[in-house]
Amino acid sequence: MASDTAVVWFRRDLRVHDNEALVEACEAGEVLPVVAFDPREYGERAFGGDDSFRFEKTGPYRARFRRESVADLRERLRDRGSDLVVRHGRPEEVVPAVAAAVDADVVHFQTLATPEERAVENAVRKRLREVGVTPSRHWTQTLYHLNDLPSPYTDISDTYTSFRKSVEGDATVRDPLPEPDLPRAPVGDVGAGPLPTASGLGVDEVEYDERAALAFEGGESSGLDRLDRYLWREDRLRKYKDTRNGLLGQGFSSKLSPWLNAGCLSPRYVHAAVDRYEHERVSNDSTYWLVFELLWRDFFQFQFAKHGADFFGQGGIRGRDDIDWRQDDAALERWAGGETGIPFVDAAMRELNATGYQSNRARQNAASFLANTLRIDWRKGAAYFETQLVDYDPASNYGNWAYIAGVGNDSRDRSFDIVNQANTYDGDGAYVKRWVPELSDVPAEAVHEPWELSDTEQAEYDVQVGVDYPEPMIDLEDRHRTLR
Ligand SMILES: Cc1cc2nc3c(=O)[nH]c(=O)nc-3n(C[C@H](O)[C@H](O)[C@H](O)COP(=O)(O)OP(=O)(O)OC[C@H]3O[C@@H](n4cnc5c(N)ncnc54)[C@H](O)[C@@H]3O)c2cc1C
Repeated sequence: MASDTAVVWFRRDLRVHDNEALVEACEAGEVLPVVAFDPREYGERAFGGDDSFRFEKTGPYRARFRRESVADLRERLRDRGSDLVVRHGRPEEVVPAVAAAVDADVVHFQTLATPEERAVENAVRKRLREVGVTPSRHWTQTLYHLNDLPSPYTDISDTYTSFRKSVEGDATVRDPLPEPDLPRAPVGDVGAGPLPTASGLGVDEVEYDERAALAFEGGESSGLDRLDRYLWREDRLRKYKDTRNGLLGQGFSSKLSPWLNAGCLSPRYVHAAVDRYEHERVSNDSTYWLVFELLWRDFFQFQFAKHGADFFGQGGIRGRDDIDWRQDDAALERWAGGETGIPFVDAAMRELNATGYQSNRARQNAASFLANTLRIDWRKGAAYFETQLVDYDPASNYGNWAYIAGVGNDSRDRSFDIVNQANTYDGDGAYVKRWVPELSDVPAEAVHEPWELSDTEQAEYDVQVGVDYPEPMIDLEDRHRTLR
C-alpha cells in the first residue's frame, strides 16, 4: 500500500531525471523533498587515523557548485509544483525532524559506498527508526546497479580490466527512469528555508577565472546543457578518444565530472545519450571510450564498497609498508602553490587553484610528481585535491591517487617522466604559458626545462630562473636515475 506522506532526502543526486529515490517517494500522496548542508563538510577537519593531519574539507569551487545545484533543484521542483526544504545542519538531525514535522511514514534517499557518507546515512537510519519512520535506500550513483553486478560486490576484481570485461559481458545497464509527476509538497509550517551563503558555510566566495576550461555552473539544468552541447551542438564525442588527453579549452573532454559527482546528471542518462548518438550520428572507438571512462568511475565506487576505509590508509588496500613516505610540509606547500620550478607541474597546480579543475593528464602528472618523485605522503596531496576540486568524489579521487602512488588497484610503477609528458602533451608549451606567464617568452622547445637556459637566453626571454621563476626543487634527471 502506498504511504500517505513521504520525504525524499537529496544527497549527491541533485536531479529530477532518473532518480529512483524521487520516483519511489512519488508513490505517496504527498512528498516533501529536503536537502541538508552538513557543517562537517565545510571548514578545517582532521584526516583521521593514527597519523592524522588537518585540511579544509570543501574549498570555494565545490561549495559554490553545490549551492548552485541546490538552487537549481529547488527551482526545477517548484516549476513542477513541488518545493525543496533546505537546511544547514547535520542530516541525522535535519531529516528525522522534517519527517516528524510532516508525519511522514518513509524517507527515501540515495545510498553511497564511501565511508563518511555511509556513516552519515547510518546515523540518519538509526534516528528514523527510533521515531518510527521507515528509511528506504536507493543505489543511484553508478552506471551499473550494485544488484546487477555479475558477482557480489565483495568479490569483484581489484583489476579494472577484469572488472570491465565482467560487467560488459554479463551485466546490463538499466534504462534511466522517467521523471515522475510530483505530488503536493507539505512545506507548511516546516518552511522552505534559505539557501546558506558561502560565508554561512565558512568558505570564500570566488569569481570564475577567465582562463578556466569551462565556467562550471552547478545544477541539473546546466549539466543537461553541457551534455547537449558536447554531444549534439558541437558534435565532439566522435573524436573524444583522440582529444581526451588535451589540456586547454572546454572541448577536449566531456567536462561532465562535476555534474556526475553532485548527481545533477545520472550516469545512466549519459549512457542513454551516448547510445542515441551512436544510432543517430556515429558509433566508433571514441563513443565507446566515454563509456569506458564511466566504467572507471563505477570501478572505484564498487572498489570503495568492497574495501571501504582501507583506501585512506598510507599503505592503501595493499597494506604496503615498504615505501618511505616523507612528511615535508614546506615541499608540500611548494607543490600545492605551483612553485616547484617544474613548469608542467606548476601549470597544473595553478590551474587547479584558480579554477577547481584539472584535466586527467594534468592530474596524473601533478599526483605522480608529489607521490613518486618527491615521495611525499600521497594522502596529503589527495586531501589537497579534496579541498580544491570542483568535481571531487571520494572514490574517484582517493582511488586514482592510490593507483598512482602504487598502493591501490595497480602495483606497477606509475612514476611519470614529467618533462617527457610535457613535451608529448604540451609540445607547443601553450598550457604552461597560460598558467606560468613568467615563461611566456621562452620558446616551446625550452619552456619545459627553463633551468637549462643559459644566462644570455634568460636575458633574451625575459626570465631569470631563481628570481622570476623558481629553480627546480628537485633534479629530475637525477631522481629518475635513482627511481629506475
Ligand atoms: C589524481 C587524480 C585524482 C582524480 N580525482 C577525481 C575526482 O575527485 N573526481 C572525478 O570525477 N574524477 C577524478 N579523477 C579522474 C579524471 O581525472 C576526471 O574524472 C576527469 O579529468 C574529469 O574531466 P572530464 O569530465 O572532462 O572527463 P572525461 O575524459 O570526459 O571522462 C568522462 C567521465 O568519465 C569519468 N572518468 C574519467 N576518467 C576517470 C578516472 N580515471 N577515474 C574515475 N572516473 C573517471 C568521469 O566521471 C568523467 O566525467 C582523478 C584522476 C586523477 C589522476
